[in-house]
Amino acid sequence: MDRRTFLGAMGAAWAETLQAACRAPADHGGEGGELMPAFFIGHGRPLNAIEDNRFTRGWTDAMKDVPPPRAILCISAHWRTRGTYVTAMSRPRTIHDHGDASRELNLVRYPAPGSPALASKIADAVRATSVVPVDGWGLDHGAWTILCHTFPSADVPVLQLSIDARRPGTWHYELGRELLHFRRRGVLVIGSGNLVHNPSEADLLLSFDGFDWAIEADEILKAKIRAADHGALREYETLGRAVRLAIPAPDHYDPLLYVLGMQTPEDRVTIFNDALAYGGLTMTSVRLWA
Ligand code: ZN
Repeated sequence: MDRRTFLGAMGAAWAETLQAACRAPADHGGEGGELMPAFFIGHGRPLNAIEDNRFTRGWTDAMKDVPPPRAILCISAHWRTRGTYVTAMSRPRTIHDHGDASRELNLVRYPAPGSPALASKIADAVRATSVVPVDGWGLDHGAWTILCHTFPSADVPVLQLSIDARRPGTWHYELGRELLHFRRRGVLVIGSGNLVHNPSEADLLLSFDGFDWAIEADEILKAKIRAADHGALREYETLGRAVRLAIPAPDHYDPLLYVLGMQTPEDRVTIFNDALAYGGLTMTSVRLWA
């Protein structure tokens, strides 16, 4: 029984009491603190930032029982670099990197603070590579498309971690593993990309049922996620033609590997927004939480 079904099965008064308890601030005391969830979210097209649709409601539903985080660490498909960087400014700017001419979209500002102190801790914690705190980025649309809906008051510090584009999947997964303990320090992790993402085959104007290979790839990948077969997911190129067509480049897939690297044996896997959109793209999203 999932959490929502469980709540529905209880009396309303009990459900209210339990939900209030769930929203109590997490214990951010240290290694033994309450485990925060980690999400991989399919962000889809940039206009999702300013629309109210089934996907944006799926994001808010999946996060409504999350305790208030101390900070949010976002690993966005749209910040790919040589080397690994973490945003370290106290006021990250909103980056309009979406390539969409919509005036309304270009007016979006997500004025969340940053956390230079947490950026330093992340840089200090990682051994596998040098994570460099920087002031030269901000929050890109992979982050704010989701955060506008899920944390609309923009009062939680947000950091972004870049993705070293030169590295293979296993490397990203292992870096995620090194960051796992921040989940016990009040940090909510959001990997933002898309599971199936073939822009050359996607049609952002027409929404239809999807290509056969997109449906097949999404099913294969979801089965591997549910089975925690992370070895197969790290080497997705070995999962057959449909998956190779669905992931012609790893940019929107790599954020998933960071999140899976942070999975613990306690975590339950919840898949939501389980749908194709625009033919060659899926909005499939994953929540890990005990
Ligand atoms: Zn994107």
